[in-house]
Amino acid sequence: MSSPAINEALIRDVIEEVMGRLGGSNGSAPAPTPAPAAPAVKTGCGCHSGKHGVFETADHACEAAQAGFEQLREKGIAARKQIIDIVKTVCDDNAREWGRIELEETKIGRLDHKIEKLQIIKLVPGVEWLNPYGLSGDHGITLEEFTPFGVIAAITPSTHSIPTLAGNIVNMIAAGNAVVFNAHPAASQCAAMAIREFNKAIERETGISNIACIIEHPTLDSFNELCANDLVRLLCVTGGPAVVAAAMKSGKRAICAGPGNPPVLVDDTACMDRAASSIIQGGAYDNNLLCIGEKEIFVLDNTFSRFMSAMDRAGAVQLNTAQLDALTQAAFTIEPGQGGGCAQAHTNKDFIGKDAKVLADAAGISIPDGTQLLFAETDSDHPFVVEEQMMPFVPIVRVGGIEEGIQESLKAEHNYKHTSIIHSHDVNHMTAMARALDTTLFVKNGPCGAGLGLGGEGYLSFSIATPTGEGVTNPKTFTRVRRCIMVDNLRIY
Ligand code: NAD
Repeated sequence: MSSPAINEALIRDVIEEVMGRLGGSNGSAPAPTPAPAAPAVKTGCGCHSGKHGVFETADHACEAAQAGFEQLREKGIAARKQIIDIVKTVCDDNAREWGRIELEETKIGRLDHKIEKLQIIKLVPGVEWLNPYGLSGDHGITLEEFTPFGVIAAITPSTHSIPTLAGNIVNMIAAGNAVVFNAHPAASQCAAMAIREFNKAIERETGISNIACIIEHPTLDSFNELCANDLVRLLCVTGGPAVVAAAMKSGKRAICAGPGNPPVLVDDTACMDRAASSIIQGGAYDNNLLCIGEKEIFVLDNTFSRFMSAMDRAGAVQLNTAQLDALTQAAFTIEPGQGGGCAQAHTNKDFIGKDAKVLADAAGISIPDGTQLLFAETDSDHPFVVEEQMMPFVPIVRVGGIEEGIQESLKAEHNYKHTSIIHSHDVNHMTAMARALDTTLFVKNGPCGAGLGLGGEGYLSFSIATPTGEGVTNPKTFTRVRRCIMVDNLRIY
C-alpha cells in the first residue's frame, strides 16, 4: 500500500500538470516543460521565411505549416489564445475593405453582408472549449484531453472565402493545429491576401511563422497533392457535392461541410408576419449564398393567401407566371425529359448570388430600390425547388396538409441532412418534421441564421459538417482525444 505522504505528492503533481495544461489559470502554475525535440521535418528548399503563409506548392505549404505547428506546440495555450485574438481583431479591423475586395473578386453576394460575415468572426469559439474530462476513482486518476492532429488541409468555398478561412483558423488553432488552405480558384486571391496579413501580425506578436498557410494558385492538382501529403493528418472541406465526394475518396479522414437545400414549412398555426420577415432575412442574406439559407417554401393550402400577403407586406416582390417563366429560362438551362417534362436543370452561374434587381430585369419587372427578395408560386418539381439555386428568389409551393408538406420538404432536401426550418406553433408538427428530415440544423420560428447563434442560442462557424456528422464545427471537432492515466490509490475521500 502507498503511504499518505506519497499520495499527496502524486495528487499535487497531477493537479500541477492539469493546471499547467489549462494555461495556468490560477496564475501560479509553472511554465510547461518544453516538449522534446520533434522529429526532423523535411524543409524542402528552405524557402519558408518571408512567405507569410503563401506558397506555390502544396508540399512547401505543408512543410511550412508543420514547422508552424511545432512552434505553436512549444509556445503553448497562451500563444493559441493570442493568435485567435489576432485573427478576430484583423477581421474586424479590415471588414469593410476585405468585404469589398472579396466581392470584387467573386462578384457574388452583397457588400453589407460580406462585411458583417467578417465582423462576426469574433463569435467563433476558442480554447475555452477544450476543458479536459477528468475521472477519479478507486484505481487512480485519468485525464482525457483534446489534443491537436498537426497539419490540417482545408478547402474553402467561393460563397464565403475569407470568413470560412478565418473561422477555420480560429477553430483549428484553438485546438493546437496548423492549417493549409486550398481555396476556391474564384476566391483565392482575397484568401491569400488575408493569410498574408494574418501571418504578418502573428509573426510580429508571437514569433510563430506559417501557422496558417495557403496555396496561392489552387487547382484540382494542388487539392490532390495536399490530400496525398504525409504531413496532412486531417481534411476539412466546405463546399458542394463534388469536393465532398473527392475528400471521401482521398483515404484521409475528412470532416465534410457539404451542400444544403433548406426547405421551409409554414403551417396554419404560424405567425405569418414573423414567418415572412424571417424568410426574407435568411433567404436574402448575401443574396441567398448561405448553405443554411431558406431555398424553397412549402405552405399549407388553407393559409396560402395569408402567407403571400405577409411576404408582400414584409417587402418581398411577387412575380406572376409570365415573369417566373422568363426568370426560369434565364436562370437555368433545362434539359427536356421524355414526354416534354424537365429531366435536369443546370443553374446559370451568371445569376448565382446576384442582386434581386438582376433577377427582376431577367423576369421583366421593375422593382423598388432596396428590394431584397423575389417570390412566386411554383410546383414542387420546379428547378427553383429542386436545385440549390443560391439566388434572392424563393419558390412558394402549396401543400394540402402537414404530412404532404413534410414529404415535399424531405424530397427537396435531397437527404443532405443539412438544414430545415418550420414556422408553426404546433409542437406535434415540429416533432414530425424534425424526425422525418433529421437535419443537422432544425430551426423553429426564426431565420436560418438563428441556427448559427445569430438571433438564436449557439455559436458560430461557417463550416457545418453535415454528411460526416460533426455538426457545427468548433475547436473540439479538430482534436484527437488522448487519455492520460495514473494508476494508484489516489483517492482522499
Ligand atoms: P464548390 O463545391 O464549387 O467549391 C467548394 C470548394 O471545393 C472549392 O475550393 C473548390 O475549388 C473545391 N472543389 C470543387 N470540386 C472539387 C473537386 N472535384 N475536387 C477537389 N476540390 C473541388 O462550391 P462553392 O460554389 O464554392 O460553394 C457553395 C457550395 O458549398 C454549396 O453547395 C453550399 O451549400 C456549400 N457550402 C456548405 C457549407 C457548410 O457548412 N456545410 C458552407 C458553405 C458552403
